[in-house]
Amino acid sequence: MKVVEIFTSIQGEGANCGLLVTFVRLTGCNLSCLYCDTNFETGTEYSTEELTAAVTAEGTRRIIWTGGEPTLRLTEELVTHFADLGYWQAIETNGTKTPPRGLDYITVSPKVSVQTLRKNFRDTPIDEIRYPVARGVTIPDIDTLPPARHYLLSPIFEPKGSDTGSEKNLLSEPNLTYCLELMRQDPRWRLSVQLHKLLHLP
Ligand code: SF4
Repeated sequence: MKVVEIFTSIQGEGANCGLLVTFVRLTGCNLSCLYCDTNFETGTEYSTEELTAAVTAEGTRRIIWTGGEPTLRLTEELVTHFADLGYWQAIETNGTKTPPRGLDYITVSPKVSVQTLRKNFRDTPIDEIRYPVARGVTIPDIDTLPPARHYLLSPIFEPKGSDTGSEKNLLSEPNLTYCLELMRQDPRWRLSVQLHKLLHLP
């Protein structure tokens, strides 16, 4: 298992916002989104024993598998291994592949068409669909999406060192305003602001 980093922080996004969790960022992604601010290309190879020791040392008993795109590497066998150890496990996926079975919470941040999403999650219940939103982009109608417990809109932040010259993560007011407009059009959408960025946490 190739891993970019293992760290503990709050879940800053979505319906589990504020929960203390251990993030395991797996190497690799099958997309290259323009606004991507994630390092997913480096990594260190871990055996299951090494990974277990590293995660156990964090002490949270909760894992969020992330990336990159974690479905490229995460196996049902590994999920079962950590489930047997009593871990709550969630995944943050881009929707291009069906996640392995056995996870406790599935967040899809879709970077694929609705048709592909419906196909990939036909037999896999989704807990949360969360769209990163830039002003003016079209977001699918909720009624066309696969069923989920939560539907969220997440305004994309200003990139660091952009026109603002800031080295901090800044909330983009145009993106936020646009999310609020979309929520007025369909109040089933909820706002998800990346709290960890506002608090300058990892
Ligand atoms: S799917 Fe996620 S990790 Fe991959 S390029 Fe897009 S934003 Fe980055």
